[in-house]
Amino acid sequence: MIKGEKDDTWSVELSNDLELWQGFGGAGTVVLDGSGKGELVVTPTTEAQFYRTTLSQRANSLPAPYNLFSEELTLYVDGEFMVIESSNIPNHPSPYFSRGDDRYEPYNGPNGSFRLNPNSIVSQSFVYRIPLNPVEASNKRRTNLGSIGIATNGVALFNQYAGPNNRPLTNEIDSFDQFNGHPQNTGVYHYHIEPLYLSGLEGKDGLLGVLLDGFPVYGPIENGVPVTNAELDEYHGHFHATEEFPDGIYHYHFTDTDPYLNGGEYFGIPGTQTN
Ligand SMILES: [Zn+2]
Ligand SMILES: [Zn+2]
Repeated sequence: MIKGEKDDTWSVELSNDLELWQGFGGAGTVVLDGSGKGELVVTPTTEAQFYRTTLSQRANSLPAPYNLFSEELTLYVDGEFMVIESSNIPNHPSPYFSRGDDRYEPYNGPNGSFRLNPNSIVSQSFVYRIPLNPVEASNKRRTNLGSIGIATNGVALFNQYAGPNNRPLTNEIDSFDQFNGHPQNTGVYHYHIEPLYLSGLEGKDGLLGVLLDGFPVYGPIENGVPVTNAELDEYHGHFHATEEFPDGIYHYHFTDTDPYLNGGEYFGIPGTQTN
């Protein structure tokens, strides 16, 4: 991790793995020598503390759960908030990329009723401000349509309703691609239910994202068995120790049945997202 104030400069030798240098393009200068090792110089351009992580550095860098977030995202601390900037482009293929795009992949999932919706994936400019130290809200706030949180790959998390009038997802589900995401009418790709690419990568019991209130979201399996809605409270979460939070933390779970992710209100006090 690189952390500091505006006008600070670092010169650090990180790794001899060329792949780890990707993602630093806009932030600094990388000079590689013949052995593939190199030097990275970063000069932050914002007043806020500046964080940028690489695959090799994430483990010891940002506080959980943010150390698990994609190295493609920009994350920094601003006061009591973790700020995450995301273009919201999934890091996996989808039939919702345009044909001819390297990331285009026809639908190959198990849903025989799959039908492509008319939208396609468009790059966004999401800025999330999420409480670093989440607390339970005394007055619970409803989730809105649109992004209610962010998956570890930077993709928006949506609630269990379809627009415009909080209709059930029944019909929308048939347009979920092989990784359970789809774009809405302005091209915002999102997951309402278990993001299969991420749970494939991190495990179905893995930490897969965070809601706007700062409480983490875990996959649909715990201790080897599926989590049921009955084990969760009305906000779709519960409190116990997890791998990332050994002292215990309130957290949400994806489940296989409605409401899938959140019961309609945040357990904690939500931060904000703009786009
Ligand atoms: Zn949707
Ligand atoms: Zn749990």
